Amino acid sequence: MLGRLKQAKVKLIKNLKDIGILKTPEIIHAFEKVPREDFMLPEYKKHAYVDEARPILAHQTISQPYTIAVMTESLEPNLGHKILEIGSGSGYQSAILSEIVGQKGKIVSIERIPELYDYAKSNLINYKNIELILEDGTLGYPKEAPYDRIIVTAAAPTLPNTLFSQLKEQGIMIIPITKNQEQNIQEMYKIIKVSGEQKQEILGTYGFVPLIGKYGYKSKEEE
Ligand code: SAM
Repeated sequence: MLGRLKQAKVKLIKNLKDIGILKTPEIIHAFEKVPREDFMLPEYKKHAYVDEARPILAHQTISQPYTIAVMTESLEPNLGHKILEIGSGSGYQSAILSEIVGQKGKIVSIERIPELYDYAKSNLINYKNIELILEDGTLGYPKEAPYDRIIVTAAAPTLPNTLFSQLKEQGIMIIPITKNQEQNIQEMYKIIKVSGEQKQEILGTYGFVPLIGKYGYKSKEEE
């Protein structure tokens, strides 16, 4: 299976480069280095390099490689950056960012579901520059703020100001915001903080699980 997975990985990365999604050498290197299969449930490992989202635990998903590539390239991460991620899920996106920021950088990743926090923690055991937090990520993590970059991997009803306020001046934030809740369609926003104001760009439409929390959607139990 390893040989086949390796071939599929080379093919997927080549395709993402050919269509102009993966561009930056450091990001391409991170995609080459991180084994996506290590962040998937045993029954899905053979699909690690199929360009699709797959279920993980607690009805959540590991995002599609295409989406992770778009979000990572748009985030413009650099060596030494401190990045806040909301929605650790499997930990795969954190691992990609960890390779890019290096040992002088840091990833703070927040997950709200204990089962997934434990799952990400075990998947990321060898990544020393990632701090995982079990909490409502819509509050951000003021203790480590301000951040060079913020990435939200679940769909918000609106941009939580708690997060924007923890972004550095000239910092970049990527966040999917719901356009049509019934059809599960979100627009991916790239937001740059310029003189304290939001400069927004829409990157396209995507489908994400909801961001649940104080400044996100209510959980089913609260409805
Ligand atoms: N980045 C992940 C990966 O690489 O596997 C994919 C994340 S998955 C699409 C979205 C995650 O956001 C889920 O694990 C979900 O539990 C989490 N989430 C939703 N609302 C949250 C919140 N308020 N705080 C933290 N995590 C949240």
